[in-house]
Amino acid sequence: MTRVFSGIKPTGHLTLGNYLGAMRQWAAVDQHRSDALFCVVDLHALTVDHDPARVRRLSRQAATLLLAAGLDPELCTLFVQSHVDEHARLSYVLECVATDGEMRRMIQYREKAARERERGGSVRLSLLTYPVLMAADILAYGADEVPVGDDQAQHVELTRDLAVRFNQRYGGTFVVPRATVPKVAARVMNLQDPTSKMGKSDDSGPGIVYLLDEPEVVRKKVARAVTDSGRDVVYDREGRPGVANLLEVLAACTGGEPGALAGAYGSYGQLKKDTAEAVVEVLRPVRARHRELCADPGFVEGVLRAGAEKARAMARPRVDAAYRAIGLLPPV
Ligand code: ATP
Ligand code: MG
Repeated sequence: MTRVFSGIKPTGHLTLGNYLGAMRQWAAVDQHRSDALFCVVDLHALTVDHDPARVRRLSRQAATLLLAAGLDPELCTLFVQSHVDEHARLSYVLECVATDGEMRRMIQYREKAARERERGGSVRLSLLTYPVLMAADILAYGADEVPVGDDQAQHVELTRDLAVRFNQRYGGTFVVPRATVPKVAARVMNLQDPTSKMGKSDDSGPGIVYLLDEPEVVRKKVARAVTDSGRDVVYDREGRPGVANLLEVLAACTGGEPGALAGAYGSYGQLKKDTAEAVVEVLRPVRARHRELCADPGFVEGVLRAGAEKARAMARPRVDAAYRAIGLLPPV
């Protein structure tokens, strides 16, 4: 059976981008057709300036929202990264296979490092090595597929390179995974700056739709979305990024196709109204289920406890094999 692994960082409140680009496919497709593991990757949240209490809170919230979005612990394994030591154990070994040049080429490193510097902060070494830890997350489980938004494709490509290199040097240990990216809404853009990705750790609140935003807030944010000069509604990602983003979101929420939907609209106003309603409707059941789950924290804890136990048992043998293969003496 195909094994799937994917994760989400507790760096901020989850966004519509996270939902349409990743979580929705995990719940609707991946967990049904494969042996799937989904992870709140909390170690990754420590790569940038962080507040410890907030990271703990966001980790619990992310797990709760993943369940609210439809992940079913009977079908998949849901757990928190730091509860399974194998991720950090394997990451070190993979650092001995990766090169510093490779790390410095990663687009996200460049962007996030630049942002940290702009804020007057320093860049944590873990931000540079983050893609190696992500490779460890994936390779520890022998995952074949990694369903992610478009922005993570480069990291999955690096994971493939590291797996191939390790296997060639030290013997076949890892499955070489591939990224799977959704056809629409693989990169939902910031509503206030449609040339940048909507990211949960970005500062600009009005351009980001959070899954837990009240319907009225969602409507306001969509109504204020930056549109392009010109008045006709056409789907052109390069020339008209603002309108194209709305069309993609609408298409992802209603099951249509952005190019075809464009033809149905004579003005930006109606497109915004329909997009806002479509988003509100898509988020409604997630928000309702989230409320129910918040009333039952013991359930979420139980899911995470069982998930970590299962994940540990799955990862351990492969990580042990990697330790032996690279030359470490097995414990006596
Ligand atoms: P951060 O700003 O901390 O990087 P993020 O919003 O990018 O947060 P991640 O935890 O890095 O979220 O990514 C979780 C998943 O959501 C990944 O599969 C990623 O590709 C996907 N994703 C993130 N942002 C978007 C987006 N704007 N559109 C589509 N998919 C997205
Ligand atoms: Mg990200």
